Amino acid sequence: MHEVLNKKGFICDMDGVIYHGNKILDGVKEFVNWMMENDKRFVFLTNSAERTPHELSMKLQRMGLEVSADHFYTSAMATAEFLSEQKPDCTVYVIGEAALTKAMYDKKIYMNDINPDYVVLGETRTYNLEKIEKAISLVRNGAKLIGCNPDTVGVTEKGIVPATGALIAPIEIATGKKAYFVGKPNPLMLRHGLKLIGCHSADIAFIGDRMDTDIISGIESHIDTVLVLSGVTAEDEISNYPYRPKYVLGGVCDLLK
Ligand SMILES: [Mg+2]
Repeated sequence: MHEVLNKKGFICDMDGVIYHGNKILDGVKEFVNWMMENDKRFVFLTNSAERTPHELSMKLQRMGLEVSADHFYTSAMATAEFLSEQKPDCTVYVIGEAALTKAMYDKKIYMNDINPDYVVLGETRTYNLEKIEKAISLVRNGAKLIGCNPDTVGVTEKGIVPATGALIAPIEIATGKKAYFVGKPNPLMLRHGLKLIGCHSADIAFIGDRMDTDIISGIESHIDTVLVLSGVTAEDEISNYPYRPKYVLGGVCDLLK
């Protein structure tokens, strides 16, 4: 067994670590079962703002993994938590999926398309010129621009699709204002994850598949990092970065070997 398994808890990225598209990766079931049997604390962290924890739990269930909704933390939830800490009782204009709106309501942040404190954007398929125009006029009138995550593209079964960073760019350009992004690599997201499982950073390992979002945010949060090569990063790309993960594994399947 790998020494990192002595940690009390684990924060795991999702895509590229536990599944790819709709396919669960090798050894994931065994690893998740091992965490549960050994009373490890764990949370799955995703930069996607499209699904609620309950929907993510159902997605895993369809792949044969039973993980309850309280084990998921999304950039939509991190954004709502950030805004409620910054300005309790603030209002927002949201461009995003229902999960993002729900995360806002859960933190008592309400919708306002007249004079909101913030314009918030997450991945969505309901993106149109009318909404961009609205967002631009609200930001020009003083609303602060917030992105759930800075990813410019996402990888789906259909190929590359624009993600939040790309969708928010027209609003940034037309207003001259730069968005603030809450999701990874912002270490805020990991710190919220830590709070959620009630562990100290030294007692945790973060498992991710991206150097520029996962590994850097782990390093900046003083959390031991595990890069798995089952996602977007190939082994020979690691040396392109000025920082390195503590451990490199082929996938979570190597943890229990
Ligand atoms: Mg990933």
